Amino acid sequence: MSARSSAIAAISTHRVASTQNYQEDGGADIYGQYVFGEDAQRQYLAKPIFRRLRRTIDGLEAFDPVIADAVAHAVKEWAMAHGATHYTHWFVPMTGSTAEKHDSFLNPQGEGRTIAEFSGKNLIQGEPDASSFPSGGIRATFEARGYTAWDVTSPIFLQVEPNGVTLTIPTAYVSYTGEALDHKIPLLRSQEALGKEALRVLRWFGNATATRVFTNIGPEQEYFLVDRRLAELRPDLVLTGRTLFGGVGPKGQELEDQYFGPIRERILAFMMDLDRELWRLGVPAKTRHNEVAPGQFEMAPVYEGTSVGSDHNMLVMQTMRKLAPKHDLMMLIHEKPFAGVNGSGKHNNWSMGTDAGENLLDPGHNPHDNAQFLAFLVAIIRGVNTHADLLRATIADAGNDHRLGANEAPPAIMSIFMGSQLEDVLSQLEAGVTSGSKKGASIGLGVTSLPDLSADATDRNRTSPFAFTGNKFEFRAVGSSAPIYWPQTVLNTAVADSLRTLADDLDRLSAGDMEGLTSILSNILRANKQVLFEGNGYSEEWHAEAARRGLPNNKTTVDALPALSTPKAAALFASFGVLTERELAARADINWERYVKVCNIEALCAIDMATTLIVPAAASYLGRLAAAGSASRGLAAVAAKVATVTDAVVDGIHALEHALHGAHAASSVQDEARAFADSVLPAQAALRTAVDELETLVADDLWPLPKYRELLFQY
Ligand code: ADP
Ligand code: MG
Repeated sequence: MSARSSAIAAISTHRVASTQNYQEDGGADIYGQYVFGEDAQRQYLAKPIFRRLRRTIDGLEAFDPVIADAVAHAVKEWAMAHGATHYTHWFVPMTGSTAEKHDSFLNPQGEGRTIAEFSGKNLIQGEPDASSFPSGGIRATFEARGYTAWDVTSPIFLQVEPNGVTLTIPTAYVSYTGEALDHKIPLLRSQEALGKEALRVLRWFGNATATRVFTNIGPEQEYFLVDRRLAELRPDLVLTGRTLFGGVGPKGQELEDQYFGPIRERILAFMMDLDRELWRLGVPAKTRHNEVAPGQFEMAPVYEGTSVGSDHNMLVMQTMRKLAPKHDLMMLIHEKPFAGVNGSGKHNNWSMGTDAGENLLDPGHNPHDNAQFLAFLVAIIRGVNTHADLLRATIADAGNDHRLGANEAPPAIMSIFMGSQLEDVLSQLEAGVTSGSKKGASIGLGVTSLPDLSADATDRNRTSPFAFTGNKFEFRAVGSSAPIYWPQTVLNTAVADSLRTLADDLDRLSAGDMEGLTSILSNILRANKQVLFEGNGYSEEWHAEAARRGLPNNKTTVDALPALSTPKAAALFASFGVLTERELAARADINWERYVKVCNIEALCAIDMATTLIVPAAASYLGRLAAAGSASRGLAAVAAKVATVTDAVVDGIHALEHALHGAHAASSVQDEARAFADSVLPAQAALRTAVDELETLVADDLWPLPKYRELLFQY
């Protein structure tokens, strides 16, 4: 029996084990069990220290090293009570994955004795030998010093594995010279920049109580699950996370019966496991459902502050990856694991709020709130329009290139969807009129009230990359595998830029001058309204219209990344202290390099599979056909066809090797990336076409790779 058929046999006898009583040990009992949260802090810390730590976590005061030893001791006691033997500083280097290096609490005291120790310094600062992380030229390997610093805003947690418990401290990662080597630091800086400018605007509106403005994030996470026994027979899934070959066959997603359909027992078992594990980690997992493509699913948490929410999204992806094998599943987080059915994205729901609990993107009920809401709305419109190229660049990578612009995901053109009601309000604002209304939506700033814009009052538009949904924006073009720190950093900074301009204008206006405000806002709107688009983002007409409006349409990563290297980008990040020129250049470099590396791995994997799996399968089948001799006229024709397509495969391998060779000869990483986009990817696509045709010809028992129909429908 072939490996493929025994995998299928195993699936058909797979039984879902019901090992846990899900009613006992429900959400509330286990929620936050693995987190050094408020309850644990109260239990393990002396009152005065507890209070000061809380003030630090709430952003009201800087962390005072004087309390570090006491906090560290409490953290250690708590962790050891839960079985921890090791601790780690957990961070997000520019690889985009999380990183951790464990140390035990053990501190030898001589003569065979040891005590468990964890000092304030161990808590606050670490120095991983970090020379192997990409730094984009910030550090040479001989000056590899990098430090991790505790991010007090993100809760300390335990990683609990069957064979050990590790105390895990979320940290920021910084070079000896103080430059950000991670995704966290720029996000925290952007948050501060936005908060500062937003407060200036709020003060003009007479808000004297809010002390902080921050952003919230609720990332909806799409993913695929396939049977692990099948998936592991495919080198492409194992190495690249996507199928490099394979056709969708007779059935894909056209019946539209998967979306929100009943959840299979085996998948539900995984989802239950996932929810429970996430709840223990204090990740507020909320929603789960079947997505559009067969084998595709989604989870969404309740939104949280940006730093914690971004860390939590890393934990969501990591936990999914970890739990899937327990259910004999493989989790695919790639943006496009399968050709011909939908790929996966991450919808970042984003809003700004104050520490007093006000959502600044909530239209509110009275005219005063409306004016303030419109001011923030207009600032966001300007931010997205002015920095559309940068926002596009933050979501550009080899994986997302398979989605953006295709007719299933938002296009590569950044535009904003408002919904008809707000669109109407904005057009009145633009005209500067103080009355006139549609459904009572009169925008006399300070005169009339906006109608209640409940979340349901706005339409949905799946085709928009950036959509207003009631009291938040949804940045829908983010890739499913992407850490969300970077897109949010840029969004925060772009909006901070607009809020600063607006606040500067407002500084020249006396408080309560609503006419003056209307004129400022309508000017900003007039200059930026080209980014607003209510129609079908997938349509040809929109591409033409966007070109007329002069909106950037950077279709691929190599088109998009240059936006990171413009004087405009450097000035933006530098003026808010979010990234120095060097820090920005490092990120650009790493993105270019990553694109080349990913494309290179995929091309090599395709060559390897075609050479060692596909061509031999064709040879076996041709042998079988030859053995049948001239028994039938039809068989001779089949053999001729198989021979022709096999030639195309072999030629395709050579052409791909040739293209790869050419790309490697480029003298800069940018040129190499372009060579990949212009010649390697097309050569690989041509090889795929030939292989996929061969798949439809070769005897099924000789085909070495699990097919889409098995991966997508048998689990
Ligand atoms: P949808 O209608 O898009 O399905 P949901 O209400 O289900 O929206 O929310 C999707 C995500 O948006 C969830 O993670 C949710 O917590 C988050 N969300 C809701 N309100 C806000 C907000 N004000 N700011 C940020 N995220 C939010
Ligand atoms: Mg949504």
